[in-house]
Amino acid sequence: MCGIVAYIGNKNAYPIIVKGLKRLEYRGYDSAGLALLNGDLNIYKIKGKVSQLEAFAADKDLRGSIGIGHTRWATHGEPNDINAHPHLSDNGRLAIIHNGIIENSDSLKKLLTRDGHTFTSETDTEVLVQFIGSVQQKYNLPIEEAVRQALGSVIGAYAIVLIDKEDPTKIVAARKGSPLVVGVGDSEFFLASDATPIVEYTKKMIYLNDEEIVIMDRDNLEIKTIANIPKKPEIQEVELAVDELEKGGYEHFMLKEIYQQGQTIADAMRGRMSHIESWVKMGGMEEYEEKFRKAKRLIIVACGTSWHAGLVAEYLFEDLARVPVEVEYASEFRYRNPILTEEDIVIAISQSGETADTLAALELARSKGALIYGVVNVVGSSISRLTHAGSYIHAGPEIGVASTKAFTGQLSIFTLMALYLANAKGTISRTYFQKLLNELTIIPGKIEEILKQNDQIKYIAAEIKNSNNAIYLGRGFNFPIALEGALKLKEISYIHAEGYPAAEMKHGPIALIDEKMPVIVIATNKNAYEKVVSNVQEIKARKGIVVSIVAKGDEQISRLSDYTIEIPPTEDPLAPLLSVIPLQLLSYHIAVMRQCNVDQPRNLAKSVTVE
Ligand code: GLU
Repeated sequence: MCGIVAYIGNKNAYPIIVKGLKRLEYRGYDSAGLALLNGDLNIYKIKGKVSQLEAFAADKDLRGSIGIGHTRWATHGEPNDINAHPHLSDNGRLAIIHNGIIENSDSLKKLLTRDGHTFTSETDTEVLVQFIGSVQQKYNLPIEEAVRQALGSVIGAYAIVLIDKEDPTKIVAARKGSPLVVGVGDSEFFLASDATPIVEYTKKMIYLNDEEIVIMDRDNLEIKTIANIPKKPEIQEVELAVDELEKGGYEHFMLKEIYQQGQTIADAMRGRMSHIESWVKMGGMEEYEEKFRKAKRLIIVACGTSWHAGLVAEYLFEDLARVPVEVEYASEFRYRNPILTEEDIVIAISQSGETADTLAALELARSKGALIYGVVNVVGSSISRLTHAGSYIHAGPEIGVASTKAFTGQLSIFTLMALYLANAKGTISRTYFQKLLNELTIIPGKIEEILKQNDQIKYIAAEIKNSNNAIYLGRGFNFPIALEGALKLKEISYIHAEGYPAAEMKHGPIALIDEKMPVIVIATNKNAYEKVVSNVQEIKARKGIVVSIVAKGDEQISRLSDYTIEIPPTEDPLAPLLSVIPLQLLSYHIAVMRQCNVDQPRNLAKSVTVE
């Protein structure tokens, strides 16, 4: 969601900014723009893609070694050229780019209007820059002081970057609730929403904390808080390699990421288990083992695909470690006045580690004294810094907006966490523990086997691609996978799809089934297999089109189905790691055939940094 890239140094800022904005395209956006300082302050912005911005700017003045660039995901005002960022203060002096929402922009706007300020856009961002500009003018302040003093009266979430035409040697930036990273080069600095646009220039990063302001010229950088307390910049080395950010021969990032899953699951488990020595170690949990053992319940907060991973985690923790689990939508949890005690453990799941709803839920849980634990992909992200402990999933950058490898990474972590806790509590037999470890070790190989069925899955995709609706059904461990399969289809192919526990079908959705309705049945479970057979019979009796995902060697369900995808058999608790893969591929192929933008589906953002 929204991309920020800024540069100050001796090079030409324009190519760095444009390349950086392209690197951030995966986050999702609807318009793009940039500002360059070269004595003049030139602003170019446009609704649409960064490539359209490039075409628009091609014949313009692109000089300047200080610049700021933005991709906008509209919250206030429709996506159009005027609402695109950067925005200017009405004295023409300050230019700003902003990610987030200024919650008191209406009241600020009233004050400013009374003082004679005029506005050209509908955005909260323009209100903010006018406000900073008015503080600057009134008290004759340097830009960094105007920003600091103004932010004291601002409510909301922001990552902002500003330049000042009358002080053309500086960039000033600040964050609260939205991510911002500084790249430290040699007589140059970079700013971006995450490290991806910066890593090709420097691996040295400073992750800004909430309420911090950074002031930089070409050679120096200074950080202070809004309360004017100086902070020592903490430089970290990131490991990200540039080739991780490229498609590497695949047609789309999503396809690459689907195919990486054998590897990424192995990476998530590396060093955390050994089937030979029969152990599971979760660094983050060890320190709080007693708390985990004694926990009366675990509360999982997440959104979207991560929420589905949370549902699988519920089945895993309850089944293996015998601890009650509640899985909550982060946004609802926060506003429901939840009952929390110091005996609760709250686990947050987020690929980006920046999901605003999840962050807010965590802050609430922390304030009530709960232990908070993060399952996150992006190293150094806000959630990873807020939690008491956690486990990274080590999936590498996930660029496709629809999550695939991060999801299976999350499932791998939860399987290990549940096994670790089950072992510590003695709720699992040695034999079953060993069996699951043996099985986990060969899961990556089984994923490779499923990927070999790509052609068969593509064939099925072609058969159902023109449907307007689809139903996904699963039981037990495969129920959350039905939800995830439906979400994947919705997200990238724009086909309306719903997931249900298979038995729920007869309590409502069965009314929708006719000869046009594809019903994707995930039927790999050993448990309750016969019941799923009956569910499939019920669908066939109403002429629904059955696509089944079954374990190799299955006869009954395959015989009843119109199309079947066979996957290697495994133990029920590990089934989600396998059964989701054909569903990802199915959605992918359908979306490609429907000519949808697979990696950047309409209206969606990768890292949802607004509530
Ligand atoms: N609220 C701002 C707007 O609507 C910023 C949106 C963003 O984060 O891109 O322009």
